Amino acid sequence: MTGDNGHVTIIGAGIVGVSCAAFLQREGYAVTIVDRNEPGLGTSFGNAGSVSPSAILPVAMPGMMKKVPGWLLDPLGPLTIRWSYLPVIMPWLLRFLRHATRDECVRVATAMRSLMETVFDDYSAILDESTFRSLIRRNGCLYVYDSRDELDAAGWSLDLRRRLGAEMQEIGESEIRELEPALNRRFKLGVFAPDNGSTVDPHLLVKAIAGKVRANGGTIIQAEVSDVEIGPAGPVALQTSGGRLPVDRLVLAAGAWSGPLARKLGSKVPLETQRGYHVTFSEPGIDVHRTVMWNKRSVFINPMACGLRIAGTVELAGLSAPPNYARADRLGEIAVEMFPDLKTAQQSRWMGHRPCLPDSLPVIDRSPRFANTVFAFGHQHVGICSGGPTGRHVADLVCGRSSRIDLSPFSARRF
Ligand SMILES: Cc1cc2nc3c(=O)[nH]c(=O)nc-3n(C[C@H](O)[C@H](O)[C@H](O)COP(=O)(O)OP(=O)(O)OC[C@H]3O[C@@H](n4cnc5c(N)ncnc54)[C@H](O)[C@@H]3O)c2cc1C
Repeated sequence: MTGDNGHVTIIGAGIVGVSCAAFLQREGYAVTIVDRNEPGLGTSFGNAGSVSPSAILPVAMPGMMKKVPGWLLDPLGPLTIRWSYLPVIMPWLLRFLRHATRDECVRVATAMRSLMETVFDDYSAILDESTFRSLIRRNGCLYVYDSRDELDAAGWSLDLRRRLGAEMQEIGESEIRELEPALNRRFKLGVFAPDNGSTVDPHLLVKAIAGKVRANGGTIIQAEVSDVEIGPAGPVALQTSGGRLPVDRLVLAAGAWSGPLARKLGSKVPLETQRGYHVTFSEPGIDVHRTVMWNKRSVFINPMACGLRIAGTVELAGLSAPPNYARADRLGEIAVEMFPDLKTAQQSRWMGHRPCLPDSLPVIDRSPRFANTVFAFGHQHVGICSGGPTGRHVADLVCGRSSRIDLSPFSARRF
């Protein structure tokens, strides 16, 4: 961790930014992370915490076109648009829907599998062994269905994941009971993915990696980045709320807020946000042992150090509209549908901004304009599953060596 190779400044202290910093330190770079908040208070704070190398499907799935009108008519359904935002998001939405084909699904899932299959090794490389063990569990994920039709409807996408190496075991009612006795008896069929896992708290995970970065000599500055000063060969300084900050090499990992900064760096990327909500029940009164996903409702439930969390839903409303906590309340109702004995009196709600590109792939690439800048944003619904691996590939890019995987699907030039 000598810093002998030079210095890298990283904008963003979410899971992606801190993972980039940790991998860069392993390569001998000195690092400075700049974030307007303490580490991990952006979207990485309140997600569902699933660490699933099989969560590789794009958000725009084949057949989605038919479902969208019904979803949109239900303001508390899995997908909604704030109508005042429709004119702004329409071009992005049309682009997004064009990716909802089988061919695209195979292409995206193949790329995401190659990115995420090392996720456990990648987090273990940047955390002490005891910290890794205390924060990350590899105890599988259970997908539940209440009818054969529902499971059959997921058949093609399950087979795709199996073909790409994910273990997805179909199980019956008694095995579901054995895995999760507190689940509603309505769930007759399930798919168990034994290679998946979760974190006991995504905020603690980011804080632990940030703590390691600091312990290894890294600097974390709390300041808002408002502008980038460009010299003849690329960015030379950031304008921040704390003053001018000279930079040598730069990584942009500002999650859903990366778009305007990428534009200042000469790249127009179609980055939007898909907002999501959670409810965490701090005294749930039931035992849930692993991540449970109810496909029909598009929700994840995960037992965490801070309680039992249900998270999900997609709301297209941009970065600045206030939250609509009725959507979180709906998640709370779904949690009770899934776990009838759940105690809901002690609960907290949260809304976060998933950074999303229309093809559901992140950008992990050198800036098309400047050799000293790398982009690492757009991790949509799976930034915890792909943040650690992204850090490894960003370090490869900064070092100027080729990565273990083909990074071309994540190119910044693809738009
Ligand atoms: C409801 C919900 C459930 C989810 N569940 C899962 C899950 O189970 N598993 C999974 O893998 N993923 C999940 N996700 C997705 C995951 O949370 C995101 O993909 C991930 O957190 C993105 O990480 P990031 O580091 O790119 O962004 P962030 O965590 O948002 O970090 C970006 C940072 O940049 C900082 N920043 C931005 N602009 C500036 C600026 N101008 N100056 C200074 N600082 C700036 C912000 O303050 C922020 O800290 C979920 C998301 C939601 C909303």
